[in-house]
Parts: sequence; structure tokens; C-alpha cells
Amino acid sequence: MDLYGMPDFDAHERVVFGYDEPTGLRAIIALHSTRLGPAAGGCRMWPYASSSEALTDVLRLSRGMSYKNAMAGVHFGGGKAVIIGDSRTMKTPELFQAYGRLVDSLGGRYVTAEDVGTTTADMEHVARVTKFVSGLGRRPGEAGGDPAPKTALGVYLGLKAAVRFQLGRADLQGVKVAVQGVGGVGYHLCRLLAAEGVDLRIADLQPTATQRVRDEFGARVVAAESVLLEDVDALAPCALGAVFNPQSIPRLRARIIAGAANNQLAQEQDGTALHLAGILYAPDYIVNAGGIISVAREYYGGATEAQVTAEIHAIPTRLTEIFERARRENRPTHAVADQMARARIGRAERRKVA
Ligand code: NAD
Repeated sequence: MDLYGMPDFDAHERVVFGYDEPTGLRAIIALHSTRLGPAAGGCRMWPYASSSEALTDVLRLSRGMSYKNAMAGVHFGGGKAVIIGDSRTMKTPELFQAYGRLVDSLGGRYVTAEDVGTTTADMEHVARVTKFVSGLGRRPGEAGGDPAPKTALGVYLGLKAAVRFQLGRADLQGVKVAVQGVGGVGYHLCRLLAAEGVDLRIADLQPTATQRVRDEFGARVVAAESVLLEDVDALAPCALGAVFNPQSIPRLRARIIAGAANNQLAQEQDGTALHLAGILYAPDYIVNAGGIISVAREYYGGATEAQVTAEIHAIPTRLTEIFERARRENRPTHAVADQMARARIGRAERRKVA
């Protein structure tokens, strides 16, 4: 495979391939940019069909982290890691320690945390061999811990701002929302939405996950293949990326998209297609920044939980600014956000890392 010729290669500073025979670790870490600080982003564990599929994912995800971190105002550049494997069967403490040694070998240029398929407990194993990790256990009141509830809070506030902008409604009572994926983030998002009287439709590949949300919050379970095609006001994709593409977009019935999943647009032009279809797209990396805000505060230390919550409450203001500019300039929201993120990165003084 030709790394430099790949469509998702975007002048990434480093791409590191790790292999550890005794534990079976196969991991790739991509550092997109360290201009604003150490490249930070979670570690995804997923049974990729091939190493080139994993490489594509880590290149895209790490670029997204550069934009997310720049727009969230945290002192991090953009990076991401993937471990190739099934998180349900292949996890061992030794595997995460081997991964931690790979992270450590980068000398602080990359800071890891949890993502799809990895948990706070896994990061505790990583923390035995490197200090360049966040999203760990914490004392009450201290910033940090599992980022999923923080991400969910930001998505919830972003979704509310999108409803206000697109539907002119200040509350969510009776608003219909379909949530794809009710894992770490989706579960907490449903909790917040249900408390505001949202009419919830949910889907997940794990029946235990949907049962829990159905029983606790009265959500209606729908088929995973068609959850994004539901006749609802808003969609909240909280599973994997590339869900908005030329096949799905013409069939969407919702007028708003605001969810946690990274890289929801399969390609740039899919954001334009959403714009032309009159669907308001809340750029993923703007609304899902709650987790990295928490991870950053934990990593740099000295912050409280209340400060993290206050920073997450700035997400709807940032989002509404993007919506307004997109409307004024008649441009897709993702294009406006990307331009703002690139400008922030370009303007910044390079910070010293490692
Ligand atoms: P998770 O692994 O805890 O949950 C994802 C859920 O989606 C799982 O329950 C899985 O079974 C389900 N799923 C996968 N494919 C599906 C499909 N086709 N249809 C329905 N359900 C499906 O992950 P998470 O931490 O909740 O993250 C969800 C998304 O949000 C990911 O894209 C992640 O990168 C992104 N994100 C997470 C955080 C965070 O703080 N955890 C922060 C920013 C972005």
C-alpha cells in the first residue's frame, strides 16, 4: 500500500505501526499534527478486515482530532490509535501494556485515551507503563474519568441548539430523536434526552444495550439497519463513521443530525448533499468534543469537574456560530467548521511537545 498516495493521507507528521508477538498486539498510531500540543485522541479496538482498512480509519480519525482539539480550545494536537482485534475476545492486561509501551516510545508526542472498544479499565493497564495516557479513574470532584458521559452532555446540548436553530423550539418535549448505538455515549445521551421528554427510537447491535435503554428510559427499539431512516426530527449517530453517504442521504427523513460518532460523513461531498437536502448537520467534531475537553483537563491537571462542565456548555454557542455563518454564506456546515479549524491551527504558534 502506498501511504503517501492514500486519499486520507493529509500531511500526517508520523504514522507508527506496532507489533508485539507475545500478546498479539497489532496497532497503528497516527499523529496528524502536534502544532497545538501533543497529538491526542482515543484508542479504538476494532476487528478491521485488513491493515489497510485500519490505516484508513486511523488517518481519518487523527485528522478529525486535530480539528476537534483546535475548535475545543484544548492544548492538544490531533492523533489517534487503532488496535486491530475483537474487543470482546482479545483483551488482556498484557496486550494493553504492550500498547502502552508503543505509546511511551513516542516520548509524549501522542497522548492516548479510550474510544470505541476500549474502556477506563484498559487505560489503567496502559498507565502502568506510560504516563502519556488520560481518561483514568479519578477522585470525586476532580476533572476526568470516563469521557463518555461528558461527550454525551456536549451532544445533548448541541442537539438542543440544532433544534432551536432548525425548528425554532426552545425545549425538546415530544421531539422525535433516533439514536444509533447506545453504548458508552449513546446510553448517557438517551438518559439526558429522556429527562426532557424526547420521543426516543434506538438501535444497537447488542440486544443487552437496547434492552437497558428501553427499560430505563422507555425508548422504542427499532431495526439497526434502518434506524437512521426513521421518520424523526433528529438523528443522533453514536456508533461508527461514514453513515452519511450517497446511499443513505436520499433516504433520510430527519431535518437535523447531531451525534457523537466520529467521521459521520463518508466523504466531503456528503456534507454538501446534506446541505442541499435542507438537513442541518452539526459537525461531529464540534458536538462530540465533551470527552476530549475532560481528557485534556485531566491530563494537564488542576481542574475541577465543574470547570469541565462549564467548558462543555460552550459547545452550543460555537455550534450556533457555525450554523449562522453557514446560513449567511449558503455553505455546508462541515465546510464552515473545517475552514475555521484549519485557520485556528494555521494561526497558532507551534507549541513545544516532548
Ligand atoms: P461504544 O463502543 O461504547 O458504543 C458504540 C455502540 O454502537 C456499541 O454498543 C455498538 O454495539 C453499537 N453499534 C456499532 N455499530 C452499530 C450499528 N451499525 N448499528 C447500531 N449500533 C451499532 O462507543 P462510544 O464510546 O459510545 O462511542 C460512540 C461513537 O462516538 C464512536 O464513533 C466514537 O468514536 C465517538 N466518540 C466517543 C467519545 C467518547 O467519549 N467515548 C468521544 C467522542 C466521539
